Amino acid sequence: MRWLVERDSPLRVLPHFEPSYLWWLLRFAASCSSAAAEAGLRSTLALNAQTSALFEGLQREAPELEINHRGVLVVYRRLRSFADARKKFGHLPGVEILSRQEALALEPLVRRSACAGAMRYAAERHVRPDLLIAALVGCLKRLGVEVRPRTQCLELIHDGCHVVAVRTADGDIDASICVLAAGANSSALARRVGVRLPVEAGRGYSFDVARDQLPLRGPVYLYDARLALTPFNDTTRVAGMMELGARTATVRPRAIASMHRAGATSFEAWPTDALEEAWAGLRPMTPDGLPVIGLAHPFDNLYIAGGHGMLGLTLSLRTGEAIAEGIVSGSVDPAVQPFTPTRFANRRHRPPA
Ligand SMILES: Cc1cc2nc3c(=O)[nH]c(=O)nc-3n(C[C@H](O)[C@H](O)[C@H](O)COP(=O)(O)OP(=O)(O)OC[C@H]3O[C@@H](n4cnc5c(N)ncnc54)[C@H](O)[C@@H]3O)c2cc1C
Repeated sequence: MRWLVERDSPLRVLPHFEPSYLWWLLRFAASCSSAAAEAGLRSTLALNAQTSALFEGLQREAPELEINHRGVLVVYRRLRSFADARKKFGHLPGVEILSRQEALALEPLVRRSACAGAMRYAAERHVRPDLLIAALVGCLKRLGVEVRPRTQCLELIHDGCHVVAVRTADGDIDASICVLAAGANSSALARRVGVRLPVEAGRGYSFDVARDQLPLRGPVYLYDARLALTPFNDTTRVAGMMELGARTATVRPRAIASMHRAGATSFEAWPTDALEEAWAGLRPMTPDGLPVIGLAHPFDNLYIAGGHGMLGLTLSLRTGEAIAEGIVSGSVDPAVQPFTPTRFANRRHRPPA
């Protein structure tokens, strides 16, 4: 609630008076409990357990995918958030709790005044998103899969509870199985076939700064500002902000200025210029903060893979694996049970004719 009124807040909730958005916000408010957060964390950790192995497997098939093993340092500016985080996450395996001195020794560019303490997750990995997508597309092509980039899906064509084709601007594509994975747009496509998929866009921003102007030793997450800094070879990627209810991926200059202010007050050196123009992306957000993975009730061949919010890259391979296994074996992987699309289903609803 404090964030909704703060000037440089990393969170904005944009007002709209659409019934589906108001329903989403109510359900979101109802999910804001410690019990729901802990249950969600447990299910997400269980789903994530195979992530490193899957990424390493993909790297063996696509060596161009670089996986960086430098962990992440989560820096807490306020004593209170540090104390809360210690209570919530300090017991998790692989988490190292660091005093201010220890954190500053690891990352001397962090300002003393910006660090009450830190946590280090040594097992954390990072990849470049563009290389991940290139690696996946490369693997698909080697398997003989036809990839049609920039082909817009207009609607799903169905016969009762069975999808038979996907209508695109370039004609219909017959389908025996359909996986809906259109990010923040999935909701509208699902609604047209009577499936309730409450996904709202959470706009975030990113820009790259020159590595030599911000020579971080490894990835840093500024917890209070919710700003992530990821060093790649020549650049450091800065990412942050959550603007719920965004309708377009346009850059809001005031948000970028606020990210720069958070950086400048947290690091001894802060580049004033980004290397290229800032970029905005729409994260697919569900009201309970959990992804949606599995068969869409009442369809027998429509799968949903989406709603991953801030974790879509991390959970991408595990989600793909679970969907593929579900399609091939017809059974549901127990790790994705908590993410079933049926938790949002309106059971009386039938697909429109
Ligand atoms: C600034 C920022 C930082 C982030 N940082 C991280 C991070 O550090 N780690 C992490 O795990 N995640 C991160 N994320 C979140 C991650 O990007 C998302 O969770 C992820 O991209 C969601 O994947 P998706 O495939 O569901 O949706 P998207 O990535 O949005 O992909 C959906 C695709 O479907 C296409 N599409 C949409 N509509 C149609 C249509 N009608 N027909 C055909 N195609 C269509 C879109 O063009 C798009 O290519 C970040 C997001 C942002 C914005």
